Amino acid sequence: MEQQDIKKDTPLGTPPPISGDAAPLDPDRMFAELERKISDSGHQMDLGRIRAAYDMARVAHSGQKRRDGSPYVTHCVAAADITADMGLDEDSIIAALLHDVIEDTNLTHDDISRQFGTPVADIVEGVTKLSRMQYTSKEDEQMENLRKMLMAMAKDIRVILIKIADRLHNMRTMAYQTAEKQRSKSLETMEIYAPIAHRLGMQRAKWELEDLSLQYLDPDGYKEITDALEAKMDELKVFMTNVKDRIQARLDAEGVDATIFSRIKHVYSIYRKMYAQKLDISGIFDLCAFRVIVDTIPDCYNVLGIIHDMFKPVPGRFKDYISTPKPNMYQSVHTTVIGSEGIPFEVQIRTWDMHHTAEYGIAAHWKYKMGDGANMAVRSGDEDKFAWIRKLLENQQESDAQDFFHNMKIDLFADEVFVFSPKGDVINLPAGATPIDFAYSIHSDVGNNMVGAKVNGRIVTYDYVLQNGDIVEIRTSKSAPGPSRDWLNIAKSGSARTKIKQWYKKERREENVIRGREMLAEELRHNGLTLDDVLEESIVAPILKRLSFGCVDDLYAAIGYGGITATRAANRLRDEARNLKPDKRNVIDKISEAAERRENQAKKSGKAIHGILVAGLSNCLVKFSRCCTPVPGDDIIGFITRGQGVSIHRRDCTNCQKLLSQPGNEGRWVDVSWADAITDSYVTTVVIAGKDRSGLVMDIATVLNSINAKVRSLSARDTGAGVALTTVTLEVKNSTELKYVMSRLSSIPGVSSVSRNGK
Ligand code: MN
Repeated sequence: MEQQDIKKDTPLGTPPPISGDAAPLDPDRMFAELERKISDSGHQMDLGRIRAAYDMARVAHSGQKRRDGSPYVTHCVAAADITADMGLDEDSIIAALLHDVIEDTNLTHDDISRQFGTPVADIVEGVTKLSRMQYTSKEDEQMENLRKMLMAMAKDIRVILIKIADRLHNMRTMAYQTAEKQRSKSLETMEIYAPIAHRLGMQRAKWELEDLSLQYLDPDGYKEITDALEAKMDELKVFMTNVKDRIQARLDAEGVDATIFSRIKHVYSIYRKMYAQKLDISGIFDLCAFRVIVDTIPDCYNVLGIIHDMFKPVPGRFKDYISTPKPNMYQSVHTTVIGSEGIPFEVQIRTWDMHHTAEYGIAAHWKYKMGDGANMAVRSGDEDKFAWIRKLLENQQESDAQDFFHNMKIDLFADEVFVFSPKGDVINLPAGATPIDFAYSIHSDVGNNMVGAKVNGRIVTYDYVLQNGDIVEIRTSKSAPGPSRDWLNIAKSGSARTKIKQWYKKERREENVIRGREMLAEELRHNGLTLDDVLEESIVAPILKRLSFGCVDDLYAAIGYGGITATRAANRLRDEARNLKPDKRNVIDKISEAAERRENQAKKSGKAIHGILVAGLSNCLVKFSRCCTPVPGDDIIGFITRGQGVSIHRRDCTNCQKLLSQPGNEGRWVDVSWADAITDSYVTTVVIAGKDRSGLVMDIATVLNSINAKVRSLSARDTGAGVALTTVTLEVKNSTELKYVMSRLSSIPGVSSVSRNGK
């Protein structure tokens, strides 16, 4: 049977006496207790190896003392003791014993590796790295970065767990430190290590770290609560015993096998509540909490029903973390009820499995693993809820415990990388970031004047991919040539690229102008235009004004450094050219030709007959309607005739409009389009209306001849009202050519209109 009446949860390890005048601790005796604890635990561990680690630490730290006068190695044994209580493995206990030797003695990674293997040496090195981290209290964001970085850096999660054990012991012995150190360490613990413990689901370590920190951060607030609890202690004990006995009796009667713990809540949780709700301690009623631990999940809900039957539940306080576990794997059912005394109290109901997870968090998973090879901690059905833990577990191929620990990596921040500046600031960059990103994240000037980079003291190339924990140093020079354009491809972060572009904007105008001019010319070429086509004042001036550029060179420069894309500039110029006067028609023609080309390229499918693609049909008979004689470039539609295939009309053809509006024909219309790369000519007809004068037909013929029009027939007739209608049937390649012909015809003196047939 577990301990029945606990005032607080049992602490991890063996807490040292806190009073200042305790006798110096005896490390050999402490270690002997640790050995006994390990053999009592029933875990298969090589005690000889653990003792060898103790001996190594003892010799290495000999002569060093803790503030309380005890030999330094007592700290190492205490940390190992906590580590053992967390349920960690043999290598972890060895690493905990040795966790300070790299930092504080002459021993090296190699020394440890030679005697205890690389995994142990790696863990010790990891803990050392974390210990070297400089901490300066900063804004929340920096805190979060630090926490993430710590976890990301500790590739082996045991590094973090041992660091937490180390910190826990240091906080327990903080009484011997100076007031200043007490405060800074407590702040660091509250801001970094307690949240990490929470994130890893290690409630026991978390609460103790918080309570210890609070003691130094707000001694008066802490004392107010502990004094009040002390004063109420007798009353609370009677109450707790009473409630516990009642619940126990009822559960016994119902045949539920359960263990009940009662406890007074942690100081920091009461403290937080007081401040959040602006109450003083007398306003906090639920100072006690109860835990009912059962064997199965159905039992949990069964117990919940019984509790709610015995006491009045407080509305809104029921929480089911069994069906929806917290992200840190925590599972329990919580409810707050009011006893007959009118005092509210919280009851947490969970299984033993959940209880271990709640107490030890991620460490509980080894615990099971280590045990008799029994249940894996991650149970079927929980996988989705524990996705991130599962991800960790997936790394292990063989179920050999050593590999299991060794391969356990924290993969929570896969898209971020955390590196140090030489001063110890943590810089958070996107994964894949390079020294260029780092330099620009410090300052634009650092990036622009960069002439080299060192990572962990070694010179690296600019495309070196930064790793978590790298210490990055940027060499700068006043005579640096500035960023190269390649950097834009190497830099991973948007902000670095923006800063590089800004530099180009300012510093490299001439280069930008030349480059931008080339880029624009190239883009215009895709539109069938040249720079000369658009550089006329009438086209370019309004565009420059609209885009706020002083001159064309400014526009080139902007394109060159990436302030505006060449495509956007070219589109603006092209659109402006489209609105031009008739004497700029050649430009327009080029534009529409290019547009046509692109359009045609977009629909490369099916087999064209006479240059026509019929949607959903191939090889069907196609004919061009005589009423409107469409040519490529016209907007067309197909009408399925009876027995004569598809008849192609212009959409604006009057006949076609009539047919479209006739009922009963709906199913006979079909989408058609022009194929690309049409080389055929098409026969079409235009009608020229003009004042009936002598020589008109001759003039028309002369114009048609001068532009090499392929005329099939030409006829003129007098309408009788002084107006002559001349009908010309000719071959053209497309509507662009036709428009050109028509425009030339309309410029003949006396011609009032030139139109196509069917209109
Ligand atoms: Mn330490």
